[in-house]
Amino acid sequence: MIKFSKYYIRQELCKGCLVCLKICPQKAIIKNPDNKPEIIQEKCDGCGLCKEHCKLRVIIKKFGLRIKQSERSDPF
Ligand code: SF4
Ligand code: SF4
Repeated sequence: MIKFSKYYIRQELCKGCLVCLKICPQKAIIKNPDNKPEIIQEKCDGCGLCKEHCKLRVIIKKFGLRIKQSERSDPF
């Protein structure tokens, strides 16, 4: 079992200042056609800087668990 966390932007509350995009060291945040930021999950390393710097606090962290392939009982 692997614990993981992901960051999400609450688009409906974001004002589009793009501070998060500029601060992201992995360049994992892009601007979408609505001029709002979007996180590319594959590039994000979970540092949390975007969340810390969002003054409106609209970036949230979600936790989850992932089951490793070797731990699955399903043979397929
Ligand atoms: S820092 Fe916050 S308000 Fe500004 S663009 Fe990013 S998510 Fe939106
Ligand atoms: S958690 Fe870090 S790497 Fe991921 S999007 Fe935010 S600033 Fe970028």
